[in-house]
Amino acid sequence: MNRIPVTVLGATGVVGQRFVRHLAAHPAFELRFVAASERSIGKAYAEACDWRLPGEPYAGFGGMKVVACDPSEASAPLVFSALDAQVARGVEPIFAASGSMVFSNASAFRMEEDVPLLVPELNAAHLALVAIQRKRRGWKGAIVTNPNCTTVPLAASLGPLHRAFGAEAAMVVSMQALSGAGYPGVASLDAVANVFPFIKGEEEKVESESCKILGTFDGERIVRAPIAISAQCNRVPVVDGHTIALNYRLRGSPDPEAVIEALESFVPDTEGLNLRTAPSRFLQVRREPDRPQPRRDADEDGGMRVMVGRVRKCPLFGIKMIALGHNTERGAAGASVLNAELALAKGYL
Ligand code: NAP
Repeated sequence: MNRIPVTVLGATGVVGQRFVRHLAAHPAFELRFVAASERSIGKAYAEACDWRLPGEPYAGFGGMKVVACDPSEASAPLVFSALDAQVARGVEPIFAASGSMVFSNASAFRMEEDVPLLVPELNAAHLALVAIQRKRRGWKGAIVTNPNCTTVPLAASLGPLHRAFGAEAAMVVSMQALSGAGYPGVASLDAVANVFPFIKGEEEKVESESCKILGTFDGERIVRAPIAISAQCNRVPVVDGHTIALNYRLRGSPDPEAVIEALESFVPDTEGLNLRTAPSRFLQVRREPDRPQPRRDADEDGGMRVMVGRVRKCPLFGIKMIALGHNTERGAAGASVLNAELALAKGYL
């Protein structure tokens, strides 16, 4: 099989490096261009990038020259974007108009009506928005997004319960890893032995994105799930893995055993598609009283499995639990690669 040429935008950053590592051994996708800012353009990837991952340095691409985030220098049918939202807002539409399928981590287009916001296991059908987007915008390509890294464990745990019972309200308190802020990210004097109780723009994203993800595609648009969500987001001294404390109000007030049963019996939309980056299990419910923990559990299934634990009664909402998702894999690079694999399986690439 001829592999599909790929560009990574923002290839030198925390998420970009993970894209590059995913592509080193991908059977369907072939890395052709690494692109970044003026600071890096013209340098070898090894010189421009402060490689932070274990394994082979630069995933073997250290000699590749960094180019500009412009289709005139980095045109490819498949583009992964790890750009900051402000930069993505200008750059991603240019690639999509030029014919690329852009799989973006940035928040810039996530909530636009005609842009899929995918967690493939929960809403693979939303990919059909691509045709509407192309028609409306006159693009040959398209933009497909994945959610904010804290939204992922929320949507992954709430989605199966919304399907089984109907969800009415959710309260979320996050304990987010430092790598979620990019590199160098949070100043060490704010991060060490501390909890930093403010992440700009995060609570708004977490409160809105799950309603789109768990919404239904009516053939033209996503009808958002009518779930009231309240979020408080905190940065904690953890390297990788966002832990969230959740309180859910579900219709019919199911007890914890019924909730666990609904989570464990959930069949992902991707079942049978054999997507390479899909985890062997989308969701795992831990029964131990002290799990999940980011240091022990975030890397499960290459960081693509969402862990849930401490499912119990809540005197205010009905049910409470803890969920954990790897922020730079399930919440970023791995999620985008999985979205692209879904698009390939569904004939969009
Ligand atoms: P990062 O480490 O700061 O990397 C930013 C990347 O963007 C670098 O490659 C940088 O290139 C490039 N860049 C910056 N300004 C640019 C410009 N004007 N033109 C072209 N390239 C430019 O950030 P990150 O943590 O990887 O995050 C990347 C995106 O993913 C953001 O939108 C973020 O919100 C999202 N995201 C991150 C996480 C996470 O857990 N970290 C999770 C989900 C989503 P240079 O090295 O040349 O400056």
